[in-house]
Amino acid sequence: MRTIIRGPLAGTTGGAIAEQALKACVHCGMCNATCPTYQIRADELEGPRGRIYLMKQALEGEPVSRLTLDHLDSCLSCRACEATCPSGVAYHRLYDIAHPVIAEQVTRPAGERLFRFGIRQLTRSPFLFRLALMVGRLVKPVLPGALKAKVTAPPPPSPWPKSTQPRRMSLLPGCVQSATAPHFNATAARVLDRAGISLVQSRKAGCCGAVSLHLEAPEEAKRAARRNIQAWEADGTEAIIATSSGCASFIRDYPDLLRDDPAYAERARAVAARVRDPLQVLAEAPPIARRPPAASRIAVQEPCSLQHGLKLTGQIAGLLRQLGYEPQPIADNHLCCGSAGAYSLTQPEMSARLRDNKLTALSATSPAAIYTANIGCWMHLAEATDIPVRHWIEAVDEVTRP
Ligand code: SF4
Ligand code: SF4
Repeated sequence: MRTIIRGPLAGTTGGAIAEQALKACVHCGMCNATCPTYQIRADELEGPRGRIYLMKQALEGEPVSRLTLDHLDSCLSCRACEATCPSGVAYHRLYDIAHPVIAEQVTRPAGERLFRFGIRQLTRSPFLFRLALMVGRLVKPVLPGALKAKVTAPPPPSPWPKSTQPRRMSLLPGCVQSATAPHFNATAARVLDRAGISLVQSRKAGCCGAVSLHLEAPEEAKRAARRNIQAWEADGTEAIIATSSGCASFIRDYPDLLRDDPAYAERARAVAARVRDPLQVLAEAPPIARRPPAASRIAVQEPCSLQHGLKLTGQIAGLLRQLGYEPQPIADNHLCCGSAGAYSLTQPEMSARLRDNKLTALSATSPAAIYTANIGCWMHLAEATDIPVRHWIEAVDEVTRP
């Protein structure tokens, strides 16, 4: 598609990346077939091809409206469209560049701005999130239904090992995860300890910055990225482990985020190359099962960030199968569950519909538990099902602990 970038992105690296993505799109529409929002709304502007067209108009200097922003806000950033695009259009790179530029041209109502600001503050500060969660648990009985469902139960006890293994890797503490599910990281530390690896947590590393970028605060996301890069450069470990695939996938994109920062661009590339999902580590040091699982029939929900970001489709099921579990086939595995960072808060109706569809698919074979790989998906799914929802590392821990 012929494209001429005008306005704030003209002549920038971001503008060149956006132009490349726009030029690569041949408007075939094949991506619409795998887009969750297009499938539900059957509206061209609620699918990737329509959104690409809207972004093209905006980046070429055409006026944008609230409706333009609404169609972009309703995108999950799930990247399912990239998986079916025959032209290799890097949709998420285009979206991450164009969405904040378009949002800047439309004034959101004060209440909406305050709401989005509040979400960012909560997710950036584990202390604030923990406090809010503590208060939420105290007043849970009197909270309205939708809010009540978001208050997670206290995490189960999960001891951190006294690990002195020769290999050392840094563990991203996570923001929301460190408050709601600290047992994910403790469990990963025990499992990797058995593989000869000590996980260490840098006190200076924090939120990866994904929610800030998705809520149109790119400078805030860059500050988070720079802080994490400094922390991980100083710790002398061989790799950076993130137990939430959304965070790992976002850190892999730090080079894009910091592309215009001469002091950090190269350092971002070095850090991104060190990021690993625990699945990749265990693929090289396969765990050995010491007992059969208490209940082997399970469902695996593969987060979009795991499938389309980290490109690890099928690996959770493969690992758990080796350990004696029986992962059941899941219909429409490529479709997002509707969590998508802060999407469940900003787009509750679409998010709930996608979750209903996902839970129908996951529960079709009556599994004993649902295993996931991302904190957002874990919270979102657990809100609406009686089937226990867990992190896959817990399944590994169950059958490999001494
Ligand atoms: S499948 Fe790719 S080339 Fe075709 S419309 Fe979608 S993004 Fe464009
Ligand atoms: S990222 Fe997901 S929701 Fe957005 S256009 Fe692509 S497939 Fe649709």
